[in-house]
This record gives sequence, structure tokens and C-alpha cells, in this order.
Amino acid sequence: MALPAPAEPFPGAEGGVRSQDRSRQSSLVIQTAFIGDTILTTPLIAELATRGPVDIVTTPVSAGLLQNNPDVRHLFVFDKRDAQRGMRGLWAMARTIRRHRAEHDAGVARAVAYLAQGSPRSAALAVLAGVHERIGFATSPARTMYTKRVPYIENQHHAARLWLLAFPNEQRAEPRAERLRPRLFPGAAEKNAVTELLREHGVSGPFVALAPGSVWATKRWPYYPELAQRVSMRVPVVVIGGKDDQTQADAIAAHVAADRFVSAVGRLSLLASAELIGRARALVSNDSSPTHMASAMGTPTITIFGPTVPSFGFGPLAPRSATLGHAGLDCRPCDRHGPQRCPLGHWRCMRELGVDEVERLVGQMALEKR
Ligand code: SF4
Repeated sequence: MALPAPAEPFPGAEGGVRSQDRSRQSSLVIQTAFIGDTILTTPLIAELATRGPVDIVTTPVSAGLLQNNPDVRHLFVFDKRDAQRGMRGLWAMARTIRRHRAEHDAGVARAVAYLAQGSPRSAALAVLAGVHERIGFATSPARTMYTKRVPYIENQHHAARLWLLAFPNEQRAEPRAERLRPRLFPGAAEKNAVTELLREHGVSGPFVALAPGSVWATKRWPYYPELAQRVSMRVPVVVIGGKDDQTQADAIAAHVAADRFVSAVGRLSLLASAELIGRARALVSNDSSPTHMASAMGTPTITIFGPTVPSFGFGPLAPRSATLGHAGLDCRPCDRHGPQRCPLGHWRCMRELGVDEVERLVGQMALEKR
């Protein structure tokens, strides 16, 4: 059986909350995992928005990514690791959601929580917020607190896994690619910040974006400086990342002429970084969140996988994209996230992935005539 066609939006649905939605479904999506997971949740959010209003619970770090998203009615920022940690914080968040629902959801036929992140804390939040229908993955630690469990299909893209939470009663099927493209909406502030940064460095033409960072050390491909040196002979390179990526940015800067190099590291918000990636001819990234930003912005993407593999479900979704990984190692993959240190000590999965093939792909995808 094929998946049902998504419900048509209400007439006049553009422009925010729709009064007719009150007779349908109110959705609460709880996604408090990593930045990339939040980006990959946006296709689910878009699907649920065709059924009625969608509220989101997410972390302070990820919240900025969902700004301007027309599919989101309300964003609840849950600082679960700091200001709202522990039971007191959980109760306070639940009370806030309850109050909001009481105010806005009177008359809604059905309220459903989607546990896009599987922790018991998230499930408890849905329970305490009074959402009686809770849908999550059958493999999640909190699965006994769900009213419906959806299979977590190992070799499926994570955007598809999350999207299928919207169809808990249907036979599993791969949704169409266009339904799975993440959605980000940089606004005027983000566009202006990027324009200003590029103007400051005299970049007015094409450039290639590099995202050398990752929280997990073994996922950081070590040859960005050499790649940047070669690419910068043809177009400027712009390095993207947070403050923690400064060391990688400095190493790249040391290999590239100053007038061919821009560092956006620590200078832009996440959403502005997405805007910057959207203006690039191509992005070269590790298996990390910039890949998913590029998927949202439609930027040709080259993603380099070391200890992880695309079949974990986190590969690029941009229309033009490629992945690279060491094909000849029995130890690979060795960890779902990528360990901080290679357990075998040699880190061959990244050390033996040279620059030539990445440079060739950059040339093919970004710099040669299409
Ligand atoms: S064990 Fe293998 S896959 Fe894992 S980090 Fe080391 S070289 Fe890479």
C-alpha cells in the first residue's frame, strides 16, 4: 500500500495560523537532539502543518534555525541542560506548554505529540503537558510511554524516518525526495549579515564554502588546508563554523592568500550560516550539520565520511551531492556518531582520504560549466 497523499492545505492557509485548523489536529514536535536532527525534522514539521498548527520544543542552540519557519506556530525553547534542567525545569516547561495549549487549542479535534528525539525526558514532557497521543520510534528508550510506535528503519535517511512519524498507521515506504528536503528560512537579518561579511572581504563573485568542524574529532577530515589552497587558485574559499572551529579555520588561513580567504567562524548565527552556504557554489563538509543546511538551501554538497557512513541516514539531500568515504577498511563504521579518538589508533578512515578526489568533485560540481 502506498502512503496517502498529504492533506491539502486549507484554503487561505498562507500567512500563519488558520482558524479552520482548530477543527483538525494540533501537533507538538519535541526535538531536543543535535542541530542536524533539528534540520532533518523540518520535513516532518512541514507535513504536520498541512493538518493544523505545529508547536515545537527544541534547544536554545537549535531554536534559531527554526526562526521565520512558516510551518511553526510556536517555538518552545527548552534549556534542558542548564536553566531548565531537572524535574523543576521539566515541570515548568510542561506548565508553559499546557497554558499555551489551553489558550490556543480550544476546539481542536486531536492533539498529538511527535517524539522526534527518544529520551524519557521528552516523553515525560509530552505526558506532563497533557498530550495524550504520543508517537515515537519503536527503538527509543522511552517507547513504553508512547501510544504509537513507528519502526526505526536502519538504512533509511533520517529525514525519511522522522517524516514517517506522521504516518504511524501506514505501511512503511520511502517518501518522495522533494518531501524530504529540509526547510530553512533565513530572514533579512541573516541576509544582511552575510552580505556585510562578504563585502568586508571584497567577495562579490562565486566562492566555495568549507565546513571543517565537527563535535567528534574523528569526523574532522584533516586536509581542508590543502584543499583550500588548491580551490583558492580558482575562487575564494569561505570557512564556516562556530567558535570551537577556530583552530581548523586558522590552519586553513595559513595555506591561503589573504585576499582569497574569508572566515565566517564565530561570526554568524546558524541561520545566517545557512544563508552563506546558500550563496556558495558548493559546500565541502564533514558528516555534520552544515551538510543538512546545504540540503535545505539546495547547494551542491560534498560530504566526507570517516568513521561513519551515509547509510546511517545522515547523507546530503541537495539535488547535486556526493559522498566520500574509505572503501577498504573493515573497521569502518566504528561508531554511530564518530568517537573522539580512533579506537585502533591509526585513524586511516580519514588519513587515507586524500585531497585529489575532493578537489575533482569540487571542480565538477561547482566550478565547471553546467
Ligand atoms: S576504527 Fe576505523 S573507522 Fe573508526 S576511527 Fe579508526 S580508522 Fe576510523
